[in-house]
Amino acid sequence: MRVEQLGDGDPELAVVGGVHGDEPCGVRAVERLLDDDPDVERPVKCIVVNEKALERGVRYVDADLNRSFTPDTPADAHERRLAQKLAAELQGMTVFSIHSTQSHADPFAVSDGRAEHVQRIVPRLSVVALVDTQDFGEGRIFATDADIVEVEAGLQGSETAAENAYTLAREFLTAEGALPGDTVERELPVFTMGDPIPKPAAEEYEVFAENFEFVESGDPIAAADGEVIRADRDFYPVLLSPYGYANQFGYHGQKQRSLGQSSGANSTSVNSRPSAQ
Ligand SMILES: [Zn+2]
Repeated sequence: MRVEQLGDGDPELAVVGGVHGDEPCGVRAVERLLDDDPDVERPVKCIVVNEKALERGVRYVDADLNRSFTPDTPADAHERRLAQKLAAELQGMTVFSIHSTQSHADPFAVSDGRAEHVQRIVPRLSVVALVDTQDFGEGRIFATDADIVEVEAGLQGSETAAENAYTLAREFLTAEGALPGDTVERELPVFTMGDPIPKPAAEEYEVFAENFEFVESGDPIAAADGEVIRADRDFYPVLLSPYGYANQFGYHGQKQRSLGQSSGANSTSVNSRPSAQ
């Protein structure tokens, strides 16, 4: 694990890349920030986490690091030890952890609930949505004693994801007062993950539905070896992709009260066709 710092003093902010070794965009963002060496108004800790997995170009060596922050992962696993080291580095900090995905090209944020730091930071990032992991946060970096925002910066391995990752990291640092300038707060849709969308065993998969866009019960959502799979309920797909997961296409997401600006009092879940505006 590589730990560096921008500026002097005890940092309260951290930018983290390379939790997963096959997602280089966050590492490139961290390295570019260090190369820039900007005059920061608050010190920033910069971390590249899983160097061993990055070298090998694999997601992890022994276990998924983002499921290893609780003792369910064996103590001798490389990622369990890394998780403990990372948790110690991040204790008490406000943290921006950068990932990439196979599901959606446009950046989106991921949180565990909508704590104050989530409401403060996420509407100031150029993301299209927030995904609240809720019960799916088990073993993730959210289990650390730190205020965490995760971001999926784009498609895994793409140049665009690396560019987005850098832009998002700068937006985070600007929103938190480490870099000069202003950020604009926007209203953002929020989705919870819901149940997995099961994926039958097959050779070839396709998906037809779009992430974060309403699907009505009966609509075709995916295919497995040409066999069409239809929605068994109304939902908003989250983390939907043909090959991102072994046993599921993604999640039956539910739309929630939005975040930022006019996210006012009407707080009920709105898992239905969007009304005309
Ligand atoms: Zn990741």
